Amino acid sequence: MTLPRSVKYAIIGAGVHGLSTALHLAQMLKKTGRGSGEDILVVDKGSIGSGASGIACGVVRNNYYQPAMRALMAHSVEVWESDPKAYSYHSVGYMQISPEVMHEQVATIYEQQQAIGYESVFIEGAADCQKYMTGLFDDWQAKGITSVLHEKRGGYANNTASLYGLANKAEAEGVRILPGVEVLGFEYGSNSGAVTALETNRGRIGCEYVVVGAGPWVIKLWDMLELPKAISIKGRDGTVHDNVPMWKFWCLEEGTLGVDPEMHKTNDGRMPPVIHVDTDAPLYSDVDGSLITDKLWGLYYKPDFNFGGIQGGASPYKVDQNADEVAIDPYGPDSPDFIVGDDFIHTWCSMLAHCQKRFEGKISVYKHKEKSGGLGCFTPDNFPVFDTFRENVFVIADSNHGYKMIGVGKLVAQEIMGEKSGLLEPFRFGRFAKGELHPTSNSPFPWS
Ligand SMILES: Cc1cc2nc3c(=O)[nH]c(=O)nc-3n(C[C@H](O)[C@H](O)[C@H](O)COP(=O)(O)OP(=O)(O)OC[C@H]3O[C@@H](n4cnc5c(N)ncnc54)[C@H](O)[C@@H]3O)c2cc1C
Repeated sequence: MTLPRSVKYAIIGAGVHGLSTALHLAQMLKKTGRGSGEDILVVDKGSIGSGASGIACGVVRNNYYQPAMRALMAHSVEVWESDPKAYSYHSVGYMQISPEVMHEQVATIYEQQQAIGYESVFIEGAADCQKYMTGLFDDWQAKGITSVLHEKRGGYANNTASLYGLANKAEAEGVRILPGVEVLGFEYGSNSGAVTALETNRGRIGCEYVVVGAGPWVIKLWDMLELPKAISIKGRDGTVHDNVPMWKFWCLEEGTLGVDPEMHKTNDGRMPPVIHVDTDAPLYSDVDGSLITDKLWGLYYKPDFNFGGIQGGASPYKVDQNADEVAIDPYGPDSPDFIVGDDFIHTWCSMLAHCQKRFEGKISVYKHKEKSGGLGCFTPDNFPVFDTFRENVFVIADSNHGYKMIGVGKLVAQEIMGEKSGLLEPFRFGRFAKGELHPTSNSPFPWS
C-alpha cells in the first residue's frame, strides 16, 4: 500500500487501543454521515499486535478497587461480549481469591459491583472459602484465604486473534492499516500547537487529527509531542510533590506450564474461570521445600489452548532504571533483558502447586523454550491517562492494564466525534495537578 499524502484521522499503533479506536470511529463516522473508515489510517512501526497487545495474557476482569476503573471495565466487558467470536473472547468468569489483609477492600468491590449490576458472588471466612473452592476444584489447597470474589462475567481473550478480529472489522469499514511505518516526529501548525503532519520513516503524512495508541512506546511519542518529562502531583494530604517523572517501566512476568489445558477443568468438567490468588501464606518451593517468601504474593492462571498449557503470571517488578534509558526494543520475547528467567519459573510453578495439588511436581514441563514476559510503561499513579493534548492529539496511555480495555477506543471515538465521555473523565492528565488521584489498594499488583 502506498503512503497517503494526507488523511483526516491518523492513528499511531495497531494494538488493541489503536484498532478499537479505528473501528469505532469508522462506525460512528458512517452512522452520522460525517465520513467513513476511508478517512482513517492506522500506522504501525511493526505490524498488527507487535506490541503489548500481541503478547498479553488476555485476562478480562472487572475486579478493581478504584470505582472509575470498574465502571470502565464494565463498559469494556460489554464490548467484548458484543462479538465474542470475532474477538476470540471466552466468557469463563474471573475469581479474586484473597487473604484477610485484602478482605475489606474486596468486599467494597463486591458491593459496588452489585450497585452497577455486574454479576458476582462473594464468599467470606476461611472455611466457607475452602468449601466454595473445593466445590469447584477438589484439589484446592491454597492457604491464608478469607475471601473469594467470583465474577460471573469476564474471562480472557486470545491476544493476536482478537486483534485480527478488530483489524478485519475496521478494514471492512474502509480503514487502512499500514505496517512498517514508524512515526519519528510531528509537524506543527504555524499559528497553533496542533499537529499538522506525521513525520515517518517513509515520508510525511498530513493529518487533521492524531490518536496515539503506542503502548510501552508512549514515552517516546510523549517526548516527540514535547510534553513534560516530569510533573507536579498534589498528594492526598494537599502537599504538592514536584519533579515526579511522568513515566516508569515495570516488567511483567508470565509463562506457560506445558500440560494439557484440559487437565484444569472444574469438578463438573467445565472450563474454569481465570484464577487470581493473593495470599500472605508462606510460599515454599515445590522443588526442594525451601521458603521462597513469607510476604504477600500473588499469581493468576488459566488453561489456554492458544498458549498450549496453563498460562499465567505473577506480580511484575519495577525496572530500576531511568525510564529514558530503558531498552523497549526489541520488545517482548525478542528482548534480551525483559523476559522471564529461572527465578520466575521456580516461583510461579511453586505458586501453582501451592494452590492446586494437580500442579505439584510439574515444573519439569514448564515451556522453557518459549520466551515470555514484557515491559509496560506506567504513569505516576499506575492508572491510565486518556486525554487530548496539543488541540488535536488524543493520547491513550493505559498504564499497561489495557488489553481488557477494548471499550476505551469506543469512548475515544465518541470524544473525537464531539461527545465527552464521563467514563474517561477520571483519567485526565489534569488529575495529577488537582490531586484527584485514584484510591490505592492493598494488592501486591500495581494495577489493582
Ligand atoms: C506480558 C504482558 C501481559 C499482559 N497481560 C494483560 C492481561 O492479561 N490483561 C490486560 O488487560 N492487559 C494485559 N497486559 C497489558 C496490555 O497488553 C497493554 O496494556 C495493552 O495491550 C496496550 O495496548 P496498546 O494498544 O496501547 O499498545 P500495544 O499493543 O503495545 O501497541 C502499540 C503499537 O504501537 C506501535 N508503535 C510504537 N511506537 C510507534 C511509532 N513511533 N510509530 C509507529 N508505530 C509505533 C508498536 O509497534 C505497537 O504495535 C499485558 C502486558 C504484558 C506486557
